Amino acid sequence: MNEIINEEQINSLLDIKANESQINEILNKALLMKGISLEETAKLLNIPDNNEEELKKLFDAAKLLKEKIYGKRIVLFAPLYASNYCSNNCVYCAFRRDNKNIKRIHLTPAQVVEEARAIMQLGHKRIVLLTGEDYIHSGLDYIEEIMDRIYHEKVFNGEIRRININIAPLSIEDFKRLNSFGIGTYQLFQETYKKDLYSKMHPAGKKSNYEWRLEAMDRAMEAGISDVGIGPLFGMTDYRFETLATLMHANHLDQKYKCGPHTISVPRIEHAQGVDFSDNLPAPLTNIQFKKLVATLRLAVPYTGIIMSTRETPALRRELLDLGISQISAGSKVNPGGYTDNIATEQFELGDNRTLDEVIRELVDNNFIPSFCTACYRSGRVGKDFMDLAKPGLIKRFCNTNALATLGEYLLDYASEDTKKAGLAMIDKEIDAIEDPKLKNLAKEKVNLVKNGNRDVYV
Ligand code: SAM
Ligand code: SF4
Repeated sequence: MNEIINEEQINSLLDIKANESQINEILNKALLMKGISLEETAKLLNIPDNNEEELKKLFDAAKLLKEKIYGKRIVLFAPLYASNYCSNNCVYCAFRRDNKNIKRIHLTPAQVVEEARAIMQLGHKRIVLLTGEDYIHSGLDYIEEIMDRIYHEKVFNGEIRRININIAPLSIEDFKRLNSFGIGTYQLFQETYKKDLYSKMHPAGKKSNYEWRLEAMDRAMEAGISDVGIGPLFGMTDYRFETLATLMHANHLDQKYKCGPHTISVPRIEHAQGVDFSDNLPAPLTNIQFKKLVATLRLAVPYTGIIMSTRETPALRRELLDLGISQISAGSKVNPGGYTDNIATEQFELGDNRTLDEVIRELVDNNFIPSFCTACYRSGRVGKDFMDLAKPGLIKRFCNTNALATLGEYLLDYASEDTKKAGLAMIDKEIDAIEDPKLKNLAKEKVNLVKNGNRDVYV
């Protein structure tokens, strides 16, 4: 038994239901933005999938809370896969070592830089760097070299300003080293929090050790990494179990380190080449259930960013933005070399193949502010300091201005003519709508700096 996940407790809550007035009470409590208990979370997850009236109340509450805390901004990023060699055998993944008929590539540092430059060319400022778990090719020396090289690259007016990392878990010593490279968030998905099932899904390699993975975020935080990102991989077992376990994990970090996870990701298993399991999932998740769990997470951990990738379709992504998602990937490739030669096999099939420009245009049309902001971690607003600003609602001050300034950069440097026109009109409208005169002037000043040719302008 570990001190992070208590499966018995989760199982005892799993089927707990609430009547209409109890649901109303939970939603009212959630809107106070202090979070809700595991039991209350279970009750929300157990709103029947066909109870449209109750679901609407849940979705409306999530939307309201999201707008209160995050306003309209949506942060954008792109994944960069450096290698699809892997020594593990995760049953759902195309990169598993027994998947013999795929095209594998380990990018050299120079090739990674080319990928990063292609991503910069699209207008991105933030990436998540991923590799298979392969100690021969992709050790820490390799990560250090490629991060250093990426941070020193510039394409046109832009550069990558934040590199988040999603690689196999490390020892405390190695996490300290990783931290010294200037990472943003360290992300790692537990995949499934059910220990027995975890062993079946991860039959070989270092990843078969459940505890080593589960305790990774404790080691990361002890090593001084302030922002960590957690998540399950939905599709292996009951989504309610995984959602409650994710919250238990978040609560553990919050209690022990006085700072919960910076982000929670909500990936679902998608079709992966040569992987029958990915097409015959034991616990596929319907879209209604997916919406329900995102809305519930939003209410349960109001200050944690929720990340959604291009695994999902454009239509569903649109709906989920309203329910609590605060960060999305766009224009993504999930194979090493995908942004340049696109030869290697993808980790899974994408649900959204639109370009970054198309996604930005849609966000603007739907009244969301696309943001390329990377200011917080560069200004030291990370970990507990970030949460201390986020909780009383003070972080919004920075976010709105930075979102408008970085959107301005994107529009002027990378956007198509139509997107540029729509986006610049949005910026003017948003500045007009700021009520606080000080904040209005601040936003005007920063956006004008960008319009006058300055870049990387932030507060
Ligand atoms: N190899 C490392 C690991 O597993 O932690 C680093 C990241 S791996 C490239 C990124 C994530 O992709 C995994 O943690 C897993 O959750 C997800 N993944 C694997 N196969 C997938 C599939 N078929 N569909 C969707 N996501 C998948
Ligand atoms: Fe390797 Fe990660 Fe894929 Fe597992 S999920 S096979 S560890 S790349």
